[in-house]
Amino acid sequence: MWKIGLTGGIGSGKSTVADIFSSLGITIIDADLIAHQLTQPGNASFNEIKKLFGENFIDSNGELNRKKIAETIFSNPSKKTDLENILHPRIKQCMLQEIEQAKYNHYIVLVIPLLLESNFIDLVDRIIVVDADDDIRIQRIQQRDHRSEEQINDIINSQLDRNKRLQRADDILYNNGELGVLRDAVSRLHRQYLEMSS
Ligand code: ATP
Repeated sequence: MWKIGLTGGIGSGKSTVADIFSSLGITIIDADLIAHQLTQPGNASFNEIKKLFGENFIDSNGELNRKKIAETIFSNPSKKTDLENILHPRIKQCMLQEIEQAKYNHYIVLVIPLLLESNFIDLVDRIIVVDADDDIRIQRIQQRDHRSEEQINDIINSQLDRNKRLQRADDILYNNGELGVLRDAVSRLHRQYLEMSS
């Protein structure tokens, strides 16, 4: 079974591409979804994160205030590292379990936003990078999240340089156009991966 890592900068279209692969019957393993599940109240990761950040980072409904945590680690690299040290080994462990359960597939897709920035790379055999121009990403994220252009630019600038990301790609999905174009490109990759794995 081939394990295809899917990555890309903020708002490039990772979830959209994952949804298209899923509609083609492909198993998706999503690092963000696993992180969300691991940080539900009462779980070990939740308790450790609560200890790291303090009670002020817990919402009135008892959940982690993810927005506040994201804002804090943005300007505090050491807290970011501490948080990653809590989460990444556990996310990786869960991904390995899900990979084992999916082992009879021809190929699966692992959505890992931080694939090239962290130590998840050994989980995958091949890398897809989803790419779109900054102005298009900003426009799409603004429509989705109502964040300011400045906030989005800050995030883009904090992420891995676009060219460095593209250099690491085995396959690139350019997502500047309409959804139909993206669907066709994903279908082509799907056929290629099925051929590769058979
Ligand atoms: P994030 O990094 O924030 O998790 P992402 O890389 O998963 O984002 P998506 O959520 O898939 O990106 O896409 C960002 C937004 O752009 C979404 O609202 C999505 O519906 C929209 N979008 C993605 N691709 C296209 C496209 N080709 N045409 C129009 N809208 C698109």
